[in-house]
Amino acid sequence: MQRFQHYIDGRFEDAAQTFPSIDPATGESWAEMPEAREAEVERAVEAAHQALRQGEWPALTATARGKLLYRLADLVAQNAGRLAELETRDTGKIIRETSAQIAYVADYYRYYAGLADKIEGSYLAIDKPDMDVWLRREPVGVVAAVVPWNSQLFLAAVKIGPALAAGCTLVIKASEDGPAPLLEFARLVQEAGFPAGVVNIITGFGATCGAALTRHPKVAHIAFTGGPQTARNVVRNSAENLASTSLELGGKSPFIVFADADLESAANAQVAGIFAATGQSCVAGSRLIVESSVKGRFLSILKEKSEAVKIGAPLDMTTEVGPLCTARQRDLIEEVVGRSVAAGAMLVTGGKSPDGVGFYYPPTILDCSAVKSPSVERELFGPVLSVLSFEDEAEALRLANDTPFGLASGLFTRDLTRAHRMMKRIHAGVVWVNTYRAVSPIAPFGGYGQSGHGREGGLAAALDFTRTKTVWLRTS
Ligand code: NAD
Repeated sequence: MQRFQHYIDGRFEDAAQTFPSIDPATGESWAEMPEAREAEVERAVEAAHQALRQGEWPALTATARGKLLYRLADLVAQNAGRLAELETRDTGKIIRETSAQIAYVADYYRYYAGLADKIEGSYLAIDKPDMDVWLRREPVGVVAAVVPWNSQLFLAAVKIGPALAAGCTLVIKASEDGPAPLLEFARLVQEAGFPAGVVNIITGFGATCGAALTRHPKVAHIAFTGGPQTARNVVRNSAENLASTSLELGGKSPFIVFADADLESAANAQVAGIFAATGQSCVAGSRLIVESSVKGRFLSILKEKSEAVKIGAPLDMTTEVGPLCTARQRDLIEEVVGRSVAAGAMLVTGGKSPDGVGFYYPPTILDCSAVKSPSVERELFGPVLSVLSFEDEAEALRLANDTPFGLASGLFTRDLTRAHRMMKRIHAGVVWVNTYRAVSPIAPFGGYGQSGHGREGGLAAALDFTRTKTVWLRTS
């Protein structure tokens, strides 16, 4: 049984209590994780607070901070295989995907390394000849970064990179489901040479560790990714310390296909858009909205492609769909699909957990165009595609926006004028036209409505980790 440790104030240490981590492919416990409660949270936040106020870190130039981030990016790239394998083992996300994602985790650290010395203040031309006035950009303070279990290394990178570039210090809470890759990543933080206390990585349960961290009086900013219900608790906690928040939440993203689209390429994008990460992705294109004249044809292409997907062991390089992360998640999906079918949704493919070990659930397509199906309403976080159909552009738009979420959206058409019209009116933080799931460190990402607020990626994300100080200097 492997044992993992917390990383607090530059040291690896055990916690007073531990909990088992479950391998989703077998349902067996495979590692022992440290469990942070109030005492561990207190020490981690205090370490981050001290590192922000005194010692080496605040004295470093922005260029020097950038160099440390470049070193971290190189170490991530050099250790990609080990990190990907741990993420796969602990979360069930297939090795093909964790390996591909690590490459751009390193890219995000590189991008923010380069940005560290480009965060500028300004000089204000006020109407007083005897005064000089500047705006300085200073680090916002201690950042609490709380991440969910899917893509932890990536979701931590989009917080750690800009926060360090801006000069902040952090306490990162890895999810209790699959914390191994982030706890292991702490070794690279140490090796890169960040001063003690600048980055602290702990794990534990939401109601104890997460709550203690997000209401801690010395936390200035909470960068949260997770579900909307948890976000409400986090925002309530932030009333205690009046910390600012950025929230990256769930989605129920529309995937709109017009009759004039390249159906083959749209179907490939749809299969990857919903079944990648076994559907456990915030941007999963989980509502197909297809023009009714091509619905039959498109569904038969989709059915064939979905049934050809190779389901199997997550550590096998040829596997295309692995297990869900937890039994709880698999049971929830089974229950909602069952209720949807009972409500009249037609099962096109999938819909039944296989026998045997592990938390597997097959790629599932539900035709919900003639009924009100529970699968259309809530984020399922699983490999379930709900199909709706439309007669004209206005109906496509109405269906696309018929959700409280607004994270991502996909639009497939050869008519670029229509794409422009639709793109402006879709209620979502990201619109992908004739593509899906493209990301880059340069491009901001984030939601509308119940999908949250704040943006990750790009320059603006780094500015979110700063606050301005206005300095007045009398010159005569
Ligand atoms: P979750 O909301 O259950 O948990 C997220 C994190 O919050 C975990 O670390 C958890 O321990 C912590 N937490 C729970 N209760 C807390 C509390 N009271 N105070 C502080 N922290 C608390 O989410 P999950 O099930 O792990 O992940 C799935 C969700 O994450 C989905 O809704 C998904 O869409 C969303 N997500 C969003 C994005 C994005 O970028 N928008 C990316 C990935 C996942």
